[in-house]
Amino acid sequence: MTALHDSIETLPGVGPKRLEALHALDLFTLEDLLNYFPFRYEDLGARQPSTTLDGEKVTFKGIVSTAPVVRRFGKRSQTYFGLMIDHDNVRVNFFNQPWVAKNIEADQEVAVYGTYNAAKASLAGIKLVSATLNELDPIYPASKQITAKTIRHLIELAWAKLRGQLPEMVPDDVRAKYRLLGQNQMVEWMHFPPDGPSAKQARRSAAFEEFFLFQMRLQLLKQANANYAGEPVKYDKGLVKAFIDGLPYQLTEAQQRVVHEILQDQALPKHMNRLLQGDVGSGKTVVAAIAMYAAVTAGCQAALMAPTEILAQQHAINLAKLFDEAGLDLRVELLTSGLKAAQRRQILADLEDGDIDIIIGTHALLQPDVLFHHLGLAVIDEQHRFGVKQRARLREGGVNPDILAMTATPIPRTLSLTAYGEMDVSIIDQLPAGRKPIQTKWYRHQQFDQALEFMKGQLAQGAQAYVVTPLIEESEALDVQNAQAIWEELSQELPNYQIGLLHGRLSKEEKQNLMADFKANQIQVLVATTVVEVGVDVPNASLMLILDADRFGLAQLHQLRGRVGRGQRQSYTILIADPKTAYGKERLLAMEATNDGFALAQKDLELRGAGDVLGTKQSGLPAFIVADPVKDLTMLSIAQQEAIATLAEPGWDSLTSNKGLVDYLSRTMARYRHFD
Ligand code: ADP
Ligand code: MG
Repeated sequence: MTALHDSIETLPGVGPKRLEALHALDLFTLEDLLNYFPFRYEDLGARQPSTTLDGEKVTFKGIVSTAPVVRRFGKRSQTYFGLMIDHDNVRVNFFNQPWVAKNIEADQEVAVYGTYNAAKASLAGIKLVSATLNELDPIYPASKQITAKTIRHLIELAWAKLRGQLPEMVPDDVRAKYRLLGQNQMVEWMHFPPDGPSAKQARRSAAFEEFFLFQMRLQLLKQANANYAGEPVKYDKGLVKAFIDGLPYQLTEAQQRVVHEILQDQALPKHMNRLLQGDVGSGKTVVAAIAMYAAVTAGCQAALMAPTEILAQQHAINLAKLFDEAGLDLRVELLTSGLKAAQRRQILADLEDGDIDIIIGTHALLQPDVLFHHLGLAVIDEQHRFGVKQRARLREGGVNPDILAMTATPIPRTLSLTAYGEMDVSIIDQLPAGRKPIQTKWYRHQQFDQALEFMKGQLAQGAQAYVVTPLIEESEALDVQNAQAIWEELSQELPNYQIGLLHGRLSKEEKQNLMADFKANQIQVLVATTVVEVGVDVPNASLMLILDADRFGLAQLHQLRGRVGRGQRQSYTILIADPKTAYGKERLLAMEATNDGFALAQKDLELRGAGDVLGTKQSGLPAFIVADPVKDLTMLSIAQQEAIATLAEPGWDSLTSNKGLVDYLSRTMARYRHFD
């Protein structure tokens, strides 16, 4: 008996070469082949000449009115015959396909696909189509090594062997509820749809199945993760409350809510895996500080990992200050790759002995020689900048701390249902009171003088400004040159101010000194390549000027803008760009239109599609074949609800009707490398 998981090799005509080509497309078993769906259908539905436009590709079906004639001109040939379609006679020409004549005789019914010439009432034939075949011709993704036609043929063979034998994947009640096709019907109509509506219905069922299976795996992972031995962090409620009450400002309601969610999660005897989302400037750092302090009151250590040295250093300064002002005697240390060997050794020793309460650093924290006395909480700032692998590394290595990942790149719901679906999510959806919305204006290059005048006005009022020059990806040298030229120009234009220049070629010390000078207002204008992208906090800086702004993505522009609007001043962002594409223009208009990072992220997703936004690899976002997580968002969330409901059903995995599903999950979860 043929089984779903038989190798494709068992099909006739599949030798080593084809097998290799199929493997390259991730096709190994008959089941893989049947799940290799066409990405579109060519409409071969027969038409009438009277309704066909000149030059249109169509299929005509009719009776052969004159027997085919083949004329040869050296190597080339023309084959022609008459085709009677109801009352219209059309002359069909096939060029250089003399064999066509063998398949055609007078009075026979045939269908021909080709390009119509209205003036001559003739059809330049592309191929003969079986007159009895479906009207929709499935088109499969193919490769150089194997044609779509061969793939199609193999699918026909596989289907002939397996039709009617495919187990159901989506539970019966769910299928009934959403009127989804059964597995066999769905697969048949995906490949061989009798008509358009059937193809649509099959695609809808296939898309749902794809989302549903994905969500089942995700929810199972989440369950496994939750049960993953974690110890309760028994923090001291009184101390934490006193710390919060003593802060220089009152927490926003949103901050209070997420603090509550996080503390509650920390106290549970399970492993916390939480994503904290909040727009730039929403105050995530203090939330992290509270969570870290809570861990310390429980006798644990806490770590904070930042994507750049500058950010790590800033966090170290800010947190030390915060704890200091609260009168807390905590030892906060900074571990970066720039430390001298002796210093580093000392810090590592103290960390292992438990003399350090909170350690802040970059990737350097992930090195194998960094050992903790008792790590209770790891905070990962701007977590989208760390790969999935790096996030996971913190969870390994003997310690299994609670994880709090923070991101200012707001993740649209679509992606949080997919890429981050294994995490719990807390959202700060409110900015601290008194913030004035940043005003954003887009100028063309020829209006640069206007922008400069505006900047002079702002500087005269005591404001500070960032000027961001675009990173030239191909060449760091060009990049630096470019930034240098702008620095020179501004130095001439603004003789009364100090202008700093920050770029990737500077040493760590030079960068740190520049940032410190800017913070102390000894520098008024900071020209920088995108190193200021994340996290920098200088409240007196209220103007952000971005050159060639169309070179940046929406998320990046929004991040950059978030460097201003942090203090009492009205803040401004000026985008200078002459976008060359409609997409470039849309981004700039979107920036002008809204300050809402979530709205921008959604817009970005619509403009670019899900895969590009975070990068499939980076985000761990799976590639869906039929389903589209952007367009089918509602379906995705329904699939999630149903997956959760299915798992909540006691004994769901021993029901006979779920056997196909359970088999599938046990097979794929083992090789499912989504989150490692
Ligand atoms: P982000 O979420 O972008 O990391 P930060 O944590 O850097 O934001 O906070 C931005 C600024 O807002 C900081 O200067 C911080 O001190 C301040 N801040 C945070 N929470 C509040 C609050 N509740 N009220 C007033 N200011 C706040
Ligand atoms: Mg931050």
